[in-house]
Amino acid sequence: MIKRIAHIAIVVDDIDAALCFWRDGLGLDLTHVEDVPDQQAAVAFLPTGESEVELVKPTNELSGIARFLMKRGPGMHHICFEVDDVEACLDRLRAKGIRLINETPTIGTGGKKIAFIHPEGTHGVLVELYELTPEEQLLRHERQLGLADRVLHEGQVMTAAVMGFLQALVGNGDRAN
Ligand code: ZN
Repeated sequence: MIKRIAHIAIVVDDIDAALCFWRDGLGLDLTHVEDVPDQQAAVAFLPTGESEVELVKPTNELSGIARFLMKRGPGMHHICFEVDDVEACLDRLRAKGIRLINETPTIGTGGKKIAFIHPEGTHGVLVELYELTPEEQLLRHERQLGLADRVLHEGQVMTAAVMGFLQALVGNGDRAN
């Protein structure tokens, strides 16, 4: 079953230049730019409700994405659907004789379970299937905890002053009651 469009990936040769349109012109929010070693690319994430636009810039000129950019120039690279069961989806496509790139799903370093369908079978669009796994949710949670830890750590310089201020507020509240 298809749940949603997870993301649309667009290959760019310059993320900052592309953000002039996608963020500044169109008005999408940029959450972050991340190095994604799996894809040998830097990726800018711009959420659009349930989905995301991903601006993908190759970081290795031998990667598939780099070759795509060289051959066809910047533009849409693939569309990714979140499904509840990638294997079941691949089985159904195979039964219909549709050419796959990944016969079985691959698991990325972030725990992402994905498989690509060959553009030959999709009328010219590279299609990615993605299934959210419990491992990925765990890894994502751990990463968020790590980030929160760092923020707390860096925030400690301010803590004494902020705590004093908060205690004063609470103290006043107590007296008012
Ligand atoms: Zn993708």
